[in-house]
Amino acid sequence: MNTVNLFTEGEPIQDTRAPEGPVEQRWDKRRFGGKLVNPANRRKLSVIVVGTGLAGGSAAATLGELGYHVKSFCYQDSPRRAHSIAAQGGINAAKNYRNDGDSIQRLFYDTVKGGDYRSRESNVYRLAQVSVEIIDQCVAQGVPFAREYGGLLDTRSFGGVQVSRTFYARGQTGQQLLLGAYQALERQVAAGTVEMFTRHEMLELIIVDGAARGIVARDMVTGEIETHTADAVVLASGGYGNVFFLSTNAKGCNVTATWRAHRKGALFANPCYTQIHPTCIPQSGDHQSKLTLMSESLRNDGRVWVPVAKGDKRDPREIPEDERDYYLERIYPSFGNLVPRDIASRAAKNVCDEGRGVGPGGLGVYLDFADAIQRLGRKAVADKYGNLFEMYERITGEDPFEVPMRIYPAVHYTMGGLWVDYDLQSTIPGLFVIGEANFSDHGANRLGASALMQGLADGYFVLPNTISDYLAKGPFPKVGDDHEAVVEARESVTGRIERLLSIDGDRTPDSFHRELGALMWEYCGMERTDEGLRKAIDRIRELREEFWTRVKVPGENEELNQALEKAGRIADFFELAELMCIDALHRTESCGGHFRAESQTPDGEALRDDEHFAYVAAWEYTGDAPVLHKENLEYENVKMVQRSYK
Ligand SMILES: Cc1cc2nc3c(=O)[nH]c(=O)nc-3n(C[C@H](O)[C@H](O)[C@H](O)COP(=O)(O)OP(=O)(O)OC[C@H]3O[C@@H](n4cnc5c(N)ncnc54)[C@H](O)[C@@H]3O)c2cc1C
Repeated sequence: MNTVNLFTEGEPIQDTRAPEGPVEQRWDKRRFGGKLVNPANRRKLSVIVVGTGLAGGSAAATLGELGYHVKSFCYQDSPRRAHSIAAQGGINAAKNYRNDGDSIQRLFYDTVKGGDYRSRESNVYRLAQVSVEIIDQCVAQGVPFAREYGGLLDTRSFGGVQVSRTFYARGQTGQQLLLGAYQALERQVAAGTVEMFTRHEMLELIIVDGAARGIVARDMVTGEIETHTADAVVLASGGYGNVFFLSTNAKGCNVTATWRAHRKGALFANPCYTQIHPTCIPQSGDHQSKLTLMSESLRNDGRVWVPVAKGDKRDPREIPEDERDYYLERIYPSFGNLVPRDIASRAAKNVCDEGRGVGPGGLGVYLDFADAIQRLGRKAVADKYGNLFEMYERITGEDPFEVPMRIYPAVHYTMGGLWVDYDLQSTIPGLFVIGEANFSDHGANRLGASALMQGLADGYFVLPNTISDYLAKGPFPKVGDDHEAVVEARESVTGRIERLLSIDGDRTPDSFHRELGALMWEYCGMERTDEGLRKAIDRIRELREEFWTRVKVPGENEELNQALEKAGRIADFFELAELMCIDALHRTESCGGHFRAESQTPDGEALRDDEHFAYVAAWEYTGDAPVLHKENLEYENVKMVQRSYK
């Protein structure tokens, strides 16, 4: 592979925080080995938390409860509007309430295997351990999880597992969990430990003597550029799936917080690992700016199929059983419709590529509930999935009780993010990264219902313990607004805003975003090739140059200016997109959601190359060609094998 000039390779990187010894004892050892801050001293220490989703909201509430002084930021008008509120299907935990063979070991194993052996064992094991505490915490807060007739918490299954470990609140699990975290956060706001800054966007990280000491934020209503300093900074700013323009993410999701930190020295890990979710409502036209997820939970009862014959345009209800291909059940009999997302997405693409897709443009497959309705009755199906069916009908005009849903894969989640060690600390001392914003637990493919688990594990249980080891080094010298690092960070923000406003070109920020997204979907989406990725890199560079000469940002800084907000975010997406393509180009193996067409098994499955690629790719920003630092992944508790769900 000729990647000369695209990147260089630097020193390997290592996680030095996870203790040695049996994996099941590491978290206990780390907690015991870490320094504590006594309650009186906590009041003298401050932490900035960017993000109020499940990760940031739970972290800020918990740190406030512990007695630290917390400043919490989000760009929405209320913390409870963070993107986490969109989560539908559920949250995993190894409670084994069903007595179906689940355990911490099994959740650990499923997650490592599901991630195609590209995640760190110590972190994943801890995640499985902590998962059981999350459910207790949320139940205590009053989160209304679904219950069985007898009153016990109900569970269902998600992809890539054979047990039923997903706790849920109808199709609004994220909303209910976020309300739990939000009320805990508001309690601390009322108690005075947490100061809340809504409608504030972090635009720069402040580093003093090599450590993260604050942020520059723009008040999105007045345009005022503010600096905020603290003893440590936590980024919980979510994922960057919107680099593709069309995704299931909320429109506001962006990469700016983590990208700004990356530019200041935080390594960015595995940026090319993107999750394409198999069950989304197909795109209906060019006017669209957002795609809608149909929760994976639907695959518990819905059966996925396409007609056997190419180009069969009949009403699905008129196609007899023997002329249907329930291709997931056929190819993967052990897991059937509940194979992991990467596998289900690729299988859908393959049948559509064969010309057997359904709906406009042939870009869709059926998700059919006829059997479930017959077996369980309409009411039982409505009780489980009612709001999802209603949402589908409202968007498509078709009633899934009568005709099968049509679904197609769409960008949904980003496994990549800022590199963190076992303490969730980035390569910048004092900068911690939690939730979807970090890279840590899901390897090359996240299993369904594991993001909520990770966000809450990080926020309620992991970070509050590990950050104390860092804060115990305090008291830290005060940083004033006139400190040269603060002034420099503030000036870089105002300079960038002035530059964006002064271009006064002839293209909207959205038009650039749309074009960038289409490029990324074509060349860095479900299937990637050497040739396509090189093309994409060249075109991204051209488009970025064009952006900085032709973008038009109307209005002023000193007002609510959504075009300005978008332009700043898109400028960062351009830089990220290039790194994603370089990462995807250098990784010539296929693994999880990263499918390189050149690396597949004879039957079209992802073919890993463990000898050369069993590492985390952590990229350093240089302003020129990025530098690759490799963290080797070692598996002592799970054997690396070719993944099979057959
Ligand atoms: C439609 C949908 C359904 C899903 N369903 C499930 C599910 O059922 N189960 C599951 O496990 N996962 C699910 N996921 C994934 C899961 O919802 C997310 O991964 C998770 O909620 C991310 O939480 P977070 O706290 O890391 O970030 P988010 O909830 O995205 O929060 C990010 C926060 O950061 C703030 N922020 C970002 N940048 C800045 C900035 N520059 N300045 C200030 N503030 C900033 C935002 O305001 C926001 O408060 C789903 C995802 C989608 C898109």
